[in-house]
Amino acid sequence: MAEEKQKYAVIGWPIEHSASPQMHNAGFRASGIKAVYERIATPPAKLSATIDKLIDKGFRGWNVTVPHKEAVIPFLDDISPEAELAGSVNTIAVSNGRLRGYSTDGFGLEQAIQEAFHIPAAGHSFFFIGAGGATKATAVHYARQGADKIWVINRTIEKARQICGIINTATKADKAQAVALSEQKKWQQLLNSADVIIQATSLGLKDDDPLPIPAETIPENKNIYDMIYRLTPFLQEARKRNCQTAAGEGMLLYQGVKSFELWTGQTAPAEAMRRALKTAMAERD
Ligand code: NAP
Repeated sequence: MAEEKQKYAVIGWPIEHSASPQMHNAGFRASGIKAVYERIATPPAKLSATIDKLIDKGFRGWNVTVPHKEAVIPFLDDISPEAELAGSVNTIAVSNGRLRGYSTDGFGLEQAIQEAFHIPAAGHSFFFIGAGGATKATAVHYARQGADKIWVINRTIEKARQICGIINTATKADKAQAVALSEQKKWQQLLNSADVIIQATSLGLKDDDPLPIPAETIPENKNIYDMIYRLTPFLQEARKRNCQTAAGEGMLLYQGVKSFELWTGQTAPAEAMRRALKTAMAERD
């Protein structure tokens, strides 16, 4: 009898844009693993029913994306310390019928920044623009990996304060500081001294979006990472100031690499996954 394919998926709403199936299916092929990874459109009202269906059908694991990263937590039997702290799960692995949740976004960002700028978390300072779900998951990771300082600015200051509060409580240190986006005088000095600036708002998805911070505040010769998967107007401005820049594709790749390794226990074929991701992104644009 032919060996049955292992089943994996990504759940989210909307989900048509996700390039994860191409990336993971290429990874499985390159590793000789008989598996298939699919997109499952999951509106919020169907989250519970979808999880039941995935368990019934024997899925070994799945990724979780917007808007379910927090909402899936009550369905889990177990959660990794990092995902618990961040209140965010993007990877679920099934073992003996039990669901364990992980957050691999922080690992993804750290690997991408290490690859682009050769700057590890430990001992360095990171300035996050934006305090949505992506900053929450990744800033917590940086703090746990020994970052020296974490600064978070946001239009809605309460969200930045909440993230910094989680970090400072968890690390029992005053590593993290929140500043309102409107308080430019307060954050400009911090921005100038950061080792890496991370753009983590949704501004830049469209060409006519305003910049997340005024162009004249962007320092010269900095390392600037934009979580958005394209050369945003913000990165274009940064390049004019001789900054080293990188866009979000690397983060997407390495969060997937980590998910793959959690599911299979094998080293992920990162280059095959990177090639497939690039092709999928090019076809989508
Ligand atoms: P989110 O939870 O919706 O947060 C959006 C952030 O953008 C918030 O900080 C929000 O500020 C800010 N923002 C939106 N419109 C704004 C405006 N007009 N002025 C000022 N600030 C504004 O989104 P998320 O999940 O954190 O994702 C953020 C970005 O990262 C998205 O573009 C997403 O595509 C990208 N991302 C990339 C990866 C990757 O693998 N590369 C992974 C995850 C996310 P307020 O809090 O004040 O509303």
